[in-house]
Amino acid sequence: MPSGGSSSRVELSWRLMTAGSCGQVEKFTNTTKPLKSIQFPAHFSLIHHHKEGYILVDTGYSDHFHDAAKSFPYSLYAKITPIQFKPGDSAVEQLAALGIHSSDVKYIFITHFHADHISGLLDFPNAKFICSRKAYGDVQDKKGIAALLKGFLPDLLPEDFAERVLFLEDGKIASQEDLFPEAASLEILNSPIYDVFGDGSIFSVDLSGHAHGQMGLLFKQNDKVIFLVADAAWDSSAVRNLEMPSKITKLIIHDYEVFRTTLTQLHHFYKKHPHVAMIPSHCREYKGESRCKLC
Ligand SMILES: [Zn+2]
Repeated sequence: MPSGGSSSRVELSWRLMTAGSCGQVEKFTNTTKPLKSIQFPAHFSLIHHHKEGYILVDTGYSDHFHDAAKSFPYSLYAKITPIQFKPGDSAVEQLAALGIHSSDVKYIFITHFHADHISGLLDFPNAKFICSRKAYGDVQDKKGIAALLKGFLPDLLPEDFAERVLFLEDGKIASQEDLFPEAASLEILNSPIYDVFGDGSIFSVDLSGHAHGQMGLLFKQNDKVIFLVADAAWDSSAVRNLEMPSKITKLIIHDYEVFRTTLTQLHHFYKKHPHVAMIPSHCREYKGESRCKLC
């Protein structure tokens, strides 16, 4: 990770966006919800850091998903989670509409390697990738059924991924003086708190369970604290009220006990800091392509 001087005054601007959605029974993801099929948006984030430039957090779906899921057994992925995606929906096309060229994106933070989070990586040839070594190591050599069981489609990774990846574990662990009060509370997650750019602007913590080595991000936009919690929950009410997914969903969760622990800790974090916008990647309370309604 690039390392600048520590400063709590780094200017960040952030925008939550959405690239496609997939259909799933809501009750499977949260037992308090109705037994009906709904569309789960695939959110991603665009962050502008005044020194590092444009940073994406995940990418949502793209046309590459269809190519990567064409042949068996990967075609089963598209059958299990039917997606809605139309021309213009991809991250690269939405950024172009904002006047941001794909080569302007300097970094893509990958929370985890499920296909709905990495489908657009191929569209950003200049970006370096930031993720946990644990997350990449869990999918790195997986092909066929073994990959599918990880929710991973190997053809979505650029061929030069290994040369472009930066692992959080090799970066800076935040010291107490780097942390604003909410960030200091990330300690309850029992993970090192990584200072992603070494400047106190963006912190990352391990939110394993849903996927091995899944990482969340916490940062400030002006005075508003944003916590992107990836797929540690499918909706915000699960975090607020500590609601668990159904037993059938255990089949796609990497480690259900760790998932429960992580979600419980996020719930405690919420109780302590209810003003923080804790945003799951597929939560329908947040509308893509505009500021989230809680911010
Ligand atoms: Zn996921």
